Formats: sequence, C-alpha cells, structure tokens
Amino acid sequence: MSSNSPSSWHTVAIDQTLQQLSSNKDAGLSSQQVSERLQQYGPNELEETGGRSPWSIFVDQFTNIMLLMLMGVAVISAFLDIRSNTFPKDAIAIFAIVILNGILGFFQEQSAEKALAALKNLASPLVRVLRDGKTSDIAAKELVPGDVMLLEAGVKIAADARLIETSNLQVRESALTGEALAVTKQAELELPEDASLGDRLNLIFQGTEVVQGRAKAIVTNTAMQTELGKIAAMLQSVENEPTPLQQRMDQLGKVLVSGALTLVAIVVIGGMITFQNGSLGFDTSRWEDLLEVSLSMAVAVVPEGLAAVVTVTLALGTRRMVKRNALIRKLPAVETLGSVTTICSDKTGTLTQNKMVVQLVSTGDCTVAVAGDGYAPIGDFTDRLTSAKINNLEEYPELESLLIACAVCNDAVLQQEQQEWQILGDPTEGALLCVAGKAGIYKEKQSQLLPRTAEFPFSSERKRMSVICEVPGRSGNSGFPAAQGQQPNYLMLTKGSPELTLERCKGIIVGDRVQPLTQEMRDRILVENNNMASGGLRVLGFAYKLWENIPPEGSEETSEQDMIWLGLVSMLDAPRPEVREAVRKCRDAGIRVVMITGDHQLTAKAIAYDLGIATEGDRVLTGQELEKLSQEELKQQVEQVSVYARVSPEHKLRIVQALQSWGKFVAMTGDGVNDAPALKQADIGIAMGITGTDVSKEASDMVLLDDNFATIVAAAEEGRVVYSNIRRFIKYILGSNIGEVLTIAAAPLMGLGGVPLTPLQILWMNLVTDGVPALALAVEPGEPNVMKRPPFSPRESIFARGLGSYMIRIGIIFAILTIAMMSWAYGYTTNPNHVGDPEAWKTMVFTTLCLAQMGHAIAIRSNTQLTIELNPFTNVFVWGAVIVTTILQLMLIYVPPLRAFFGTHYLTGFELMVCFGFSALMFVWIEMEKLFLRFYKSRK
Ligand code: ATP
Repeated sequence: MSSNSPSSWHTVAIDQTLQQLSSNKDAGLSSQQVSERLQQYGPNELEETGGRSPWSIFVDQFTNIMLLMLMGVAVISAFLDIRSNTFPKDAIAIFAIVILNGILGFFQEQSAEKALAALKNLASPLVRVLRDGKTSDIAAKELVPGDVMLLEAGVKIAADARLIETSNLQVRESALTGEALAVTKQAELELPEDASLGDRLNLIFQGTEVVQGRAKAIVTNTAMQTELGKIAAMLQSVENEPTPLQQRMDQLGKVLVSGALTLVAIVVIGGMITFQNGSLGFDTSRWEDLLEVSLSMAVAVVPEGLAAVVTVTLALGTRRMVKRNALIRKLPAVETLGSVTTICSDKTGTLTQNKMVVQLVSTGDCTVAVAGDGYAPIGDFTDRLTSAKINNLEEYPELESLLIACAVCNDAVLQQEQQEWQILGDPTEGALLCVAGKAGIYKEKQSQLLPRTAEFPFSSERKRMSVICEVPGRSGNSGFPAAQGQQPNYLMLTKGSPELTLERCKGIIVGDRVQPLTQEMRDRILVENNNMASGGLRVLGFAYKLWENIPPEGSEETSEQDMIWLGLVSMLDAPRPEVREAVRKCRDAGIRVVMITGDHQLTAKAIAYDLGIATEGDRVLTGQELEKLSQEELKQQVEQVSVYARVSPEHKLRIVQALQSWGKFVAMTGDGVNDAPALKQADIGIAMGITGTDVSKEASDMVLLDDNFATIVAAAEEGRVVYSNIRRFIKYILGSNIGEVLTIAAAPLMGLGGVPLTPLQILWMNLVTDGVPALALAVEPGEPNVMKRPPFSPRESIFARGLGSYMIRIGIIFAILTIAMMSWAYGYTTNPNHVGDPEAWKTMVFTTLCLAQMGHAIAIRSNTQLTIELNPFTNVFVWGAVIVTTILQLMLIYVPPLRAFFGTHYLTGFELMVCFGFSALMFVWIEMEKLFLRFYKSRK
C-alpha cells in the first residue's frame, strides 16, 4: 500500500482510493489485513499530549489558602523555637503535613484523571464497519486505514475517511472548522489540491458528527495522523473547571482562614491589653506565649484531612454508580444528582424494553395477528376475521406488499449468531425485518430485486422515512400496482407515524388494485390506529409511490405526497418490569417523572398509566399542541402535564426551560443528535449508552450503560448518599475543630500554665483521629429515609439546614466538656500530693478530645436513628476506625519513643478512665439530642 499524504485524499477518485488502500468497498478489509495494519499504524487513539506537567500539578497543590496559612504558621513556629534554642519539631511536622497533603493531592488528581479516562473508555464509541464481507460494530480504537465505515445520523466520526457512497449526507464540522452549519457531503466529487479543509466535500474528518443521511467511507488516516490529531498535538494545556463542591470547599477554607486570623489577632492584641488603675495599658512581655497559643489555634482551625476525604468520597461515589450502570462523565454530577426534582424520560428503550415484537398487521382488506416472540423469524399469521392460518401469501397480495415494504424500507440487519437471532440497528426496524422473515421475505433477497438508489432518511422531527428503489420491469407484478398508463422505473416505500403518513396518501391498495382513499376509509384506519395505540402498542403506517424518474435529493416534503396507503403494523414494546418500582420510589422521594416521547399519545398514555407515571385525569400534551403555546403558556402547563407525546427534539428544550423557570432541577434523557441542546440545557443531561448517538453522549453529564430508567433513580439515590456523607463528615470534622480552638483559647484565659495542645498534637488529631473515622463515614450506606424525603437544593450553602449551627453547638459542647475536665485535671495533677506527672493534665485534654471524637463518629452515623437502632455491620469501617484510632492514641501515651516525639505525658489508669468518662459524655449528648428531636417532632 502506498502511503499517501494525509492532506491529498480529496484529489483522489474513489476507485483509486480503494486501490491505494487495498480495500474493497463491498467486503471491507480481511481480518489478516486488519491485524497487519493494526501492527503498522497502532490503535486509533489520540495521544495525550499537552495537559499540565506533573511538576505544575504538584506546585498547584500548595496554592490552597489553608496550606498557605499552615506554612506561615510553620515559619513562625520555627523562628520561635530557634530563638529559644529548641529543636523546631512542630515546624518540621507542619511542613511534613503540608508536603504530604500536596503529594496526596497530586496522586489523587492523577488517579482521578486516570479513573476518568478509564471511565471514558468504557463509553468509547462503536463504529460500524464492513470486514470480511460482514457488518460488525467495533471499538473506534480498532479502526485502521482501509476500513470501510458505515455511517448514519448521530454518529461521531472516528477517523478521517474518503467517502465512497453518500445519501443526503450532512456533517457538522464545527469542532474542526468552527462552521456551525452542517455541510452537505458528496462522494463522487474530485477536488483540486488546494481545496481548504472546509471545502473538502468528499472527505469526512475525525471528531465531526453526522447530522443527517447515510454514507459509506473508507478510512484514510487514523490516530495522530488525522486532522484532529494534528490539532491535538498542537494543544498544550487543558483547564479543568472546579466542581461546585470544590468551590464550596474553597469558600469554606477562606471562611476558616479569615476566622482563624481574626481570632489570632484578637487573642494576641487582647491578651496584651492591661487594665490597671483605671487606665488601659499594653503589656508586650506576654507576646511570645500569646503567639504560641495563636499558632496552635490556627493549626486547630484548619481541617487538614478534609480535602483528601472529599476526593475519596467522590471517587467512591462514581465507582458505586458505575456498578449500578450509571457512568458519570462530569464529576459535579455525582453531588448534584441527589438534588434532581424532575426526571424527563424518553419512553422507548428507557421506560420500555425496546425489544419490539410485531403483534398485528392491518391492510385495506384484512387484519392479521402475528405469533412468535423474540427476533427469530418464526411464527404464524392468523386472519382475525376468519381465525384461519395464512399459508399462502398470494391470497393476500396487499399483505405481501406491506411485508416487502417492511423488509426494504429498513436500515437494520437481522442475523443469526450462534443460534441466536440478533438485530443490528433500530429495534423497531428489527421487528419489521422479523415479521417479514416470518413470511419468508428477507431484506437481502429483496434488496437485490429492488436495489435502493436513494432515500429520505428518518428523523425524529419528520417521524418517517422513505427509500427509493429501482424496479426493472417489475411494476406490473410486484404487488405495487401502478396507475393506468404509468411506466414506473422507481418505487418509493415510506414508513412512519400513521397519522402523518396517512395524511400524505390519496389512494389505498385493496387486494391487487388501487382505490381512492375515501374519508370513511381514513376514519376507519385512524380508529384502528387508536385502538392499537391505546393498548400500548407502537404503530407504524406504510405507503408507497411509483415514479418514472428518480425524485431529486432534498425534495422529501413534495415527493412524499399523493402516496398509496399499504397498511398499519403494530408492535409490542413491553415496559421494563423494574420501572414501576423505580417510579414509585421517585414519588416517595419527591421527584416527578415526566414521559417525553415521539410516539402516539394513546400509546404513551397507556404505558404511562401502566407504569404509574400518569393517573386518571392527568393531561397529555402533544407536540402539535405544544407548538401553539408561547413559552409563558407552556410554563403555566408544565406542572400538570406528565406525558408529552409526538414531540420533536426541539420541544424537549422548551420543556426543560419551562420546568427550570419554576426552579426545578431537571434530569433529561436523550439519544438523538438533536437531543443534544436539551441535554446540555438540563441540569443533568443523561444519554443512552446502548442506543444513544455519540453526539448525545458528548453533550451529557451521565451515560446510562443499560439505557434503563431505574438506573437514573439508582444514581439519584447514590447522589443523595454521597452528598449527605460529605455533609456528615464536614459536621464531624469541623465540630471538633471548633472544640479544639475554644479549649486552647480557654487555657490562658483561665490562668492555666501553658498551652494544653502543641501544634504537632493538633495535627495528629485533625489528620488521624479525625481523618480516619471521617473516611469511614464516607462509605456510610444511605439512611433508610434517603429516598423518602424531598430533594435539597443544589445551590444551598454548605452551612445550610443546620450544618452551621450543629458545628457551633457541638463545638461548644466539646469545649465545655474538655474545659470542665481540664480545670479538674489541672487542679488534680498539679497538686503537690499528686503521684505522677504534673503536666499530665495536658495529655488528659489531648486524650479527651481524641476519644470524644470517637463517640462523635459512632453517634453521627445517623441524624435520626439512635446508635442501638442501627445495624453495626452496615458500616464496620466506622467501628474499625474507632478501634484503630483509640489504640494509636494509647500508643502515643504509653510507648516511650512516641511519647517523647509527640510531647505527651504518662497517664495513670485512673487519669485515663477520667478521660474515657468525660469523652463518653459526648456520645451521650448527641444521642440525647436525637431523642429530644424525636420527642419534639412527635409533639408537633
Ligand atoms: P422516544 O422518544 O420515547 O424514544 P420514539 O422512539 O417513538 O419514542 P422517535 O424515535 O423520535 O421517538 O420516533 C418518533 C416516531 O417516528 C415514532 O413514534 C414512529 O411513529 C416513527 N418512527 C420511529 N422509528 C422509525 C423508523 N425507523 N422509521 C420510520 N418511522 C419511525
């Protein structure tokens, strides 16, 4: 294979391109060729160039305001120690913690990026190709030059390619050229060498999107050789947006740091002010002592372990969600999912199984029931009027025509793989291939008899599609009778929404003759359509038209007129069994479910009733009605409507906006190219992993790997659990920090000699005795009422709903307990008769604060349930963390080298028991609070 310059393929004719790339347009490459080329060119992946250098990621970790303050504290503490000729142990410890925090943040950021990359891989797009003469879906990274790709609307193009065949192909190249409008592409063109990228209309490029039409194209360049690859190589850096939670954390850091600095100023300045003989004075001799107290307070206020715990919680949240089939594409979605108030869901495939089976076929002459299930083309036809089995289709010529239309006006493939019948493509079309197969009519054979020459592709707006086939001398006996005197060369077969298709018909086929379509016949067909739809069946209408000349491209509106009606085909798409329960869960959780579907209103209504989404009296709004409403009028109606039927993608955008104008937090599903704007507008855009187009996935925050509505509800539940766990450990950590600060400030005020806690001991508490249980609280399973209460606003402050007051209240209780213990212990251990270390009171304060946090960790597991009411095994980590941390704390007191390093003092058995006793009161207090709250609520 000659290597062609990547920039000149547009000058090469189709045949030559195929020849140069040694490929075949009907069979594609052979497996042998593929593996050779994969070796030669490598996988079709963009190399990760650019991005921040590891060094700059590392340095960035230290720009956090809390770490900056800690570094300031370390410098001052080192200065004080060196002045007094002591080893600057605290300063070294603080620096070590700062650096450790930086390293941790660095690795977390790196592993979060890796985890996200791995998750993105999971959602990596599939490409439909021809290989060894067969159609198959492969991962985009397996593409090699010479592969023949089959493209249709909604596909994101995975490599640069030369077009071989096109049908109404429109591609959006904005990612590459900046041009927002879609470009019409044509295979047959040969272009001059100097055509610019945007003018190369016979080529398609990686990263662009098929908006309309279909095409066959041969891959010319992959990986970094593509136009996108060249741009990627030039890109140097990618900025990551901070998530709302990171922003809240930054805010929290700023509040804490400014609070701490204010406190330091008050203690230092206030401590130096003297009041003697009625006049104010300034005693600077105490400044060093006061500075020492302030430094300890500053260290105590910073929750050194918080950032790490938050990151781990989010990462665990995404992992749990993937296990439940929800792939998070944008990290903030983890926290915000819990705030969803309204879920707007598609019907087909999300609420239903999307395993279509044709049940009834109805023509101008007869209605036929079809037996069999699954996609196996095996099953009998029974005439509903006579109850007789149909063995000979020749007696039902219009039924045969309808079934031929089912097979030919169809883009899906029905194939048997290891005994199993499977479909490639749209399940609706798969069901049609299957029903035709039951009558021995197969697409492959029909496509030879009626070769397709053009088409008007399906779109959710048009709700129909047509194919135009050549009829070499067949018109007379094809089952598609022509009008008298007509010499047709082409046959157009149309299928789509029955009302819209019927509207465009003027005749009807009855037996083997065409009759004018009377109003009475129209009414009868519509009644039949409604009967089928109100049973929850999905109904399609079929029609045909004969042409002497091929209708021009882009003339669908005028060409799909004056057609001849063939009949109705209705199929069952059973609701997913798990959805009913998920809808009920949503109701309990204060989440409203709204169905938005392109399907008929009666089909939609029947399924919505069945699933509990709508109840008697609920309104159904159709796309046509919606079109007539102004945005304000729509806003007035959205609260009452739970089913939208026959809507187009642009209606979805209006519905989201109307809901959002009421302050609703909307999750919206979508799968098509044109759903992308609505997905972007929604607070949580949800794309379908299986049936979704690449474009919709790119626009989404979350991808449903199983396309299942129940997965959205599961993800919302996980989101609530993650958010409530984050709040829980923030309460836990900050409550104790406030307690520490107040205790430290109280000691000099009470005239006790010295600071009870050194910075090193405070770091120990914040990182180990607070950090380890906080991590365990992050994996706390959801409370039983997590889906039994209304959602909380995603815009609420971190201190909302009592978090701020809890922190202050618990901080004060902490301080009261410890200060009470401290004042007793000070008197006891400094008493000359005391047997033991006179400074043991300091270690008693240290130990009481640590142990009280253990009781706090156990009690805070639930906001409402008492600890004895909780199953201890639902979070064994908390118990593990409490035991391990308590043992570590005891080691600090009783292992001599550790004692020397941390500056603790030996405690006698009695003193230790006093610490245990006082700290247990913390646990008792929180449990009493819960009891009180319960009593108070029951009285209300
Ligand atoms: P949902 O929006 O819940 O996924 P849907 O699949 O019915 O429902 P669309 O795919 O937009 O939504 O289809 C809209 C309508 O177009 C269908 O109800 C049907 O009448 C018609 N239709 C669907 N698929 C095809 C197809 N392959 N060919 C022709 N018409 C189709």
